[in-house]
Amino acid sequence: MRKILSGVLTVIILAAAVISFGSYRTSVQTRLYTRREFVMGTLLSLQAYGPNAETAFSDTVRRMHEITDRMTINDAGSETLLLKQHAAIAPVELSADTFFVLSRALDYAESTNGAFDPTIEPLVSLWRIGFPDARVPEPNEIDSKLPLVDYSRVQLNEAESTAYLPVAGMGVDLGAIAKGFAADESRRIMEEHGVKSALISVGGNIYAMGEKPDNTPWRIGIQDPLDSRNRVMATLDVKDETLVTSGGYERYLDAGGVRYHHILDPSTGYPAETDLLSVTIVSKSSIDADALSTSLFLMGRDAALEYAQRDGGFEAVLIDDDLGVYCTCGIQNRLTIVNSNYTLVSGNV
Ligand code: AMP
Ligand code: MG
Repeated sequence: MRKILSGVLTVIILAAAVISFGSYRTSVQTRLYTRREFVMGTLLSLQAYGPNAETAFSDTVRRMHEITDRMTINDAGSETLLLKQHAAIAPVELSADTFFVLSRALDYAESTNGAFDPTIEPLVSLWRIGFPDARVPEPNEIDSKLPLVDYSRVQLNEAESTAYLPVAGMGVDLGAIAKGFAADESRRIMEEHGVKSALISVGGNIYAMGEKPDNTPWRIGIQDPLDSRNRVMATLDVKDETLVTSGGYERYLDAGGVRYHHILDPSTGYPAETDLLSVTIVSKSSIDADALSTSLFLMGRDAALEYAQRDGGFEAVLIDDDLGVYCTCGIQNRLTIVNSNYTLVSGNV
């Protein structure tokens, strides 16, 4: 329910944050088509211009269902669940989609020294943050799962498109990266149908295609991490780019006066202790932005800034727990802080 709610809120935020469309002739090219659909356990929403937008949306929904059926850990029959069931028994043949997404997730595990780790699944299943039966596990339960979390033990065989988890109880969770893949796929489908101007949101993973028909960039709101009720703390102008945010406010469990968020530290088994409230990534590739937003959130401010500086292939906006905003230079003049509680500390990354 919380997830549905946050999806609905995302759409409201978008509706509020995208600046008015101006006036133009209602030709076929500029007619706005909007649709929402509940898919991937979240809301897929689309605002698109162009004659084929409706068909493109139907194709996108079909594709989202296909991706979910393959990658969700929550329903029987998915490839990730098969992987878990076959741990220490046999390799499992994966679709090209799942093989690709798992490979990218393992690349990020490598480049973050295991802070980002798709084999986090046993811990995610233990906490169940975001589900009605979420609870704080006993320390001994966490200890028993920790040895199962180790990305370096996943065996991929590219020639046969298989993966193997060598220890019973291991599992993979692609929740930090699959929506980004889905957003990239959605953009591809739009392009194939000749849609040149669209705003796609897969549960808040946004792809802004082209510009608005009045030749201005899309203006996207960055959620105020301290006020998750659809308030934005800044806006960002984007064009032909994706924007993905990760934050502890997105899903959490309140218990015994403590807030436990959904991004877990693979080394402790508890929610990552980070001085960041949220991380927003802007880039061309949504799968990368999705993995990076989770990764940089896990790293904390200084390591995240250093990573962004070293990598250079993306732009980032970090909000720390002093309400300081840090961004990469390429984005500073496109960022407008609209809530004066937040201060731009540094744009010189
Ligand atoms: P995101 O909302 O993209 O930041 O991803 C958060 C989701 O990723 C969580 O709900 C879990 O399913 C999964 N996850 C949690 N901790 C980690 C981690 N350390 N590495 C990779 N995925 C994680
Ligand atoms: Mg992510």
